[in-house]
Formats: sequence, structure tokens, C-alpha cells
Amino acid sequence: MQSDADLRAAWEGYWAAHYEDDRRARRLRTVATDYPVKRGVVVSYPALLDAGLSETELRTRPDRALGTGVETFESFVRGLDLDGAWERSFDVMILHVDDLPGGFKPFDSNLMAHLNELVQLEVTFDGPTERISDLMEAAFVCTDGHVTRIHQPGRRRRDITFCPECGDPVYLEERESLFAEIQRVPVSGSGFDGITAILGGRRWKGLTVGEGDTAVVNGIPRADFREDSTHGSAYLDVLHVEIEDDLPF
Ligand SMILES: [Zn+2]
Repeated sequence: MQSDADLRAAWEGYWAAHYEDDRRARRLRTVATDYPVKRGVVVSYPALLDAGLSETELRTRPDRALGTGVETFESFVRGLDLDGAWERSFDVMILHVDDLPGGFKPFDSNLMAHLNELVQLEVTFDGPTERISDLMEAAFVCTDGHVTRIHQPGRRRRDITFCPECGDPVYLEERESLFAEIQRVPVSGSGFDGITAILGGRRWKGLTVGEGDTAVVNGIPRADFREDSTHGSAYLDVLHVEIEDDLPF
């Protein structure tokens, strides 16, 4: 396992190199100022390796590896001293890792043996995508008008009941909260059937898929365990989609 310090150093090198490309630098500045409305950044797998990230780390512990990417992005952005940069954390940022080599394909066909790993899968879309709204930052307001903002990095909503300033009960104020549009679509492939793929982070503009279309996706299979149930419902957190050439993308 790479140490925290090594991971951080790899990512600091990565962001510095990424920023040397004008087009990519522009995108970083856009996310820095327009976050969380803009929250997706494409990161290059080969460039991550060049910067010192280990493949094992990214493949087997993507949440730790990519989480360090987000933390170091935050310090990198602070260093740029941009006008209007987002001042809180970038917790719900999404790093779209592209150019994964074939080694990320699961070596067996049981997707559930690879929960929380980064994998590359060939999928068939079982239907059209459905657009849904994703709560990224909830604003809770009390009767005195104090606003408490709670970031929502996971799928389970983080709530508060009482105002931290005055102790009065709070309610969720949707007009003050921040939402992103995401898409979800059922997918099937070798070893999995009809699981929900979540396409978050970017608007995937122009992505129209129909039943039977195929694509290669990079993503993290996860299971959502409710309360005390031992039955998790599986879904695929998609980081990148490579649509095959004959599709209108
Ligand atoms: Zn209050």
C-alpha cells in the first residue's frame, strides 16, 4: 500500500503537470470557481502513473486514491489564488479516470467479488437513461433564518435536526440547496444483469443511449446497505464511458 505522503506527492505532481496544458488548466479553473455545478475533471491514467501513483492502489483502493486526488486538488486551487474560487471543500467532485488499460477488467465474471474496486467493463444498456436530480449540498434553515450547509458526498442523505447556532429545529430549504443533474441507466454484462449505472459528475451532454447499445465503462461497483439489512443493492458508479464508434456521441 502506498503511504498517504506518497499518494499526496503523486497527486501534487499530477495536478502541476495537468495544469501545464491550457485546455485542461481552463477546465480546472472552471471547476474551482463553478463547483459544485461543475464538478467533473477528466484525469489521465498514464499521467497518474508517470506522477508516481501505483496501479494497484488505484485498482484496489480507488476511493482512497481518488479521495487524495480531491484533497490535493483543493490545496492546488488555493495556491492559484483565483478570484471567486469555491471556499468550502470539494467533497462531491468526480475524477473521471480515462485511458485505463485492459488490466482493469475483472479476472473473473463475478462482479460482486470486486466491490469498491476500479474496474473496466463492457456493458449493454438495458434501456434509455433516466435523468435525476442529485442533492450535493443541503441547506437547513431554522426559524431564525440561520443557514447550515451540509455537503452530501454519499448516496445516503446527511441530515441535521437542530440549528447548531441557536438549537431551534431546522427544515431542508430546497431553494438554498445545490443539486446536480445525473443520469442512471440499467446495464448488463458478463457476470451482472440489470444493475443500475450512475452517470454523475458531468452532464454527459449528447449521451443518448438506447436499449441494446454497448460501451466500455470505467467504474466502481458498490452495494448500498440499508439500516441493518445484510442484502445490499448493487450499483455501478461510472467514472468514464467510452461509447463504441458507431454510436452518436
Ligand atoms: Zn438558528
